[in-house]
Amino acid sequence: MNPPLAQPLLEVRDLKVHFKVGQGALRRAKGWVRAVDGVSFSLAAGETLGLVGESGSGKSTLGRAVLRLLATNAGQIRFEGEDITHLEGDRLREKRRRFQIVFQDPIGSLNPSLTVGEIVAEPLRIHHLAPDREQRRNRVEDLLKAVGLGAGDAARYPHEFSGGQRQRIGIARALAVEPRLIVCDEPVSALDVSIQAQIVNLLKSLQAQFGIAYLFIAHDLAVVEHISQRIMVMYLGKIVECAEARSLCRQPRHPYTKALISAVPRIGGESADRVVLSGDVPSPLELPAGCRFHPRCPFAEARCRVEEPPLREISPGHTAACWLVE
Ligand code: SF4
Repeated sequence: MNPPLAQPLLEVRDLKVHFKVGQGALRRAKGWVRAVDGVSFSLAAGETLGLVGESGSGKSTLGRAVLRLLATNAGQIRFEGEDITHLEGDRLREKRRRFQIVFQDPIGSLNPSLTVGEIVAEPLRIHHLAPDREQRRNRVEDLLKAVGLGAGDAARYPHEFSGGQRQRIGIARALAVEPRLIVCDEPVSALDVSIQAQIVNLLKSLQAQFGIAYLFIAHDLAVVEHISQRIMVMYLGKIVECAEARSLCRQPRHPYTKALISAVPRIGGESADRVVLSGDVPSPLELPAGCRFHPRCPFAEARCRVEEPPLREISPGHTAACWLVE
């Protein structure tokens, strides 16, 4: 666990999100999926915290849970100093103004029967931020300009735009309520590399303008390193390493982080410390005993198979969960 930040905007303590599966007659697998299993972290106002891990690591579930879009089983979520873990009704709706989400697939989250203007104006109407129609239209124009679209785009429909432009529409909609935190859930994964850079640069520029904090979820470490001040690495529901972005990418300590970095030539290069990841993420229904990474870890020892390593500080601001890390 990193030391608490001076003024955390978001504080998550020992959060757990477990799902029961296999209740339907046709489903064969039965049991509990511990998608998020005791995660703690803090995020400062205006900071970008990257969250990386393979598919099935639980990172998207964690992102949705901190925004109270999913039920949690245990733990605490504090936002702007207030415990929001169990907020309901109007108090939760009011809080939701302050945190938003941008999805990987904007087309799936943009109502195809509404114009772009109507889509961006919707949160303004719901939260009574611009009750007057003229005010709403002006605000929508400003938001579209802020994300690099034209005022004339308000009259068009989502299907008339490219993937990158649709992501800009999703960002404009998220910005409408002046959030302090945006969870970006794989926002550039579906885009071409050149468009990815444009969207990442747009997010950085909006952060500089409006002081928004991002929890930036992605599986591409190179993209995450570019935008984040700190990075957390997640594996099977647990944080296994967290550090300042450059330090984590240049001097990873956990074998799983080393493997993720070894797979990205732009970061990993030809380091002698390369770790090649083999096999798939084990089923979350049958979590390995001890260190959850041990079936895939080239350094696993007898202890790793029975005792789970705690996440502990190995240097100031750098934590890792591995028995072999000093
Ligand atoms: Fe590998 Fe053991 Fe460290 Fe787990 S605790 S990452 S199995 S060396």
